[in-house]
Amino acid sequence: MADTRQNYVGGEWTTADTGETVDVVNPADPSEVVYTYQNSGAEDAATAADAAAAAADDWGATPAPERGDILREAGDILADRKQELTELLTDEEGKTHAEAGGEVQRAIDIFHYYAGKTHDMGGDVKSSSGQNTNLYTVDEPVGVVSLITPWNYPIAIPAWKMAPALAAGNAVLLKPASVAPGPAHAIVEALDEAGIPDGAVNLVTGPGSEVGTEFATNDAVDAVSFTGSSQVGNMVYDQATEDQKRVQMEMGGKNPTLVMDSADVDEAADIVAGGAFGVTGQACTATSRAIVHEDVYDDFVDAITGRAESIEIGPGDEYDMGPQVTESELEGTLEYIDIAEEEGATLVAGGGEPEGDHLDDGFYVEPTVFTDVQNDMRIAQEEVFGPVLAVIPVADYEEALEVCNDVEYGLAASLVSNDHSEINRFKRDVEAGVVKINEATTGLELHVPFGGFKNSSSETWREQGDAGLDFYTISKTVYEN
Ligand code: NAD
Repeated sequence: MADTRQNYVGGEWTTADTGETVDVVNPADPSEVVYTYQNSGAEDAATAADAAAAAADDWGATPAPERGDILREAGDILADRKQELTELLTDEEGKTHAEAGGEVQRAIDIFHYYAGKTHDMGGDVKSSSGQNTNLYTVDEPVGVVSLITPWNYPIAIPAWKMAPALAAGNAVLLKPASVAPGPAHAIVEALDEAGIPDGAVNLVTGPGSEVGTEFATNDAVDAVSFTGSSQVGNMVYDQATEDQKRVQMEMGGKNPTLVMDSADVDEAADIVAGGAFGVTGQACTATSRAIVHEDVYDDFVDAITGRAESIEIGPGDEYDMGPQVTESELEGTLEYIDIAEEEGATLVAGGGEPEGDHLDDGFYVEPTVFTDVQNDMRIAQEEVFGPVLAVIPVADYEEALEVCNDVEYGLAASLVSNDHSEINRFKRDVEAGVVKINEATTGLELHVPFGGFKNSSSETWREQGDAGLDFYTISKTVYEN
């Protein structure tokens, strides 16, 4: 029988006041219930906020290296559980084992990385023009921080918010996505086992409209870090900033790869296929537009069609691409495929649900490629969040850049080119927070800033690396005479 996961509030494992639970099912075989979690309400979230507020001062006053010891231990515990957590990610949200294992390892590395950072925190000493003045900055935690996370990286994203928040001495309220809260639960188990003080971390599962809204608006909360869709994120932004809370927003993308006439077409097709179809296209940085120079357009279309058609679809570790996470995500992708056909784009690969005995009733969709896409079509402007690529022909680099920037999003963008002048101009002119040259739009390193332009981040704080710590830190400047 599937186990029932509890909330974690004030150092205790608790059930929701609502008395309700929800099942998480395996997207490769929806008849399998993977586990059950608490369907909490706003009152459960408010109780957690009180617990965090009560714990914040002591946790913030704990020497940073001591906080780091707990983070390091939690990372070690996650490492011991890596195989089990890899299988959990596959079972609850459909990543292949290779993709899931990579994500679990990223979460482990993030805990170890920020544990190391705790030896190097606190502020800076500066020279002063006053003869007897000691001039320095002191870094302090923000206080109580709410972390609201999506389902598509269900262990890496909670880790890249929790680890810096805790390293900097904040008390954490965590609300993972309802579709896949299990890995966030595992992180909290690891922190509990590692000896985190009561109330320094609190986990409440349940609907965004209840738990998420309470965490975004509760008076005890000083800052909100959100990752998810732009639609929900903009609402959370308005709610949280109305109350002067510090906000960090990581939202949607419509990420392009520009393929120029100097590119090696096979290399470009490999780069675009990896970005578009990896993790079933369910990444905020997924490549959803290939903007291709007309001189290499036909060759590129042949190559990318071949890549899409060679992908083997199925569950676990024997296939290249798993299912979409839920039936409604699958339906959303199929709807966009219909829209693209109605808009007049040409379907050259995929376009529907694959057939095969091993696919059961899973939420599978074929890797799909549309060509002859115009940039004002919805398929070129809106986030699909599935393995669907729009290929857009352009006459030259100038037109490619114009098409690239002519969307409401600006998360990741890449250029495949061997022309140094284009490479230099692209780095300068592209409207995206992550810029890749001769690489896929997907794939991030944990020690450098991450965030977007325009409706991908609403110009808020960056995450990861030192930038990740900045969001969770308030600095005072001290003149001591
Ligand atoms: P979502 O916006 O539906 O949900 C994100 C989180 O917000 C969930 O925990 C959800 O329960 C919560 N929520 C929902 N309604 C809320 C409300 N009214 N108040 C407060 N919280 C609420 O996103 P999703 O479907 O879980 O994730 C997919 C989206 O996330 C995609 O748009 C993707 O691009 C984006 N994403 C962005 C990044 C990034 O770093 N930019 C990374 C991963 C995913």
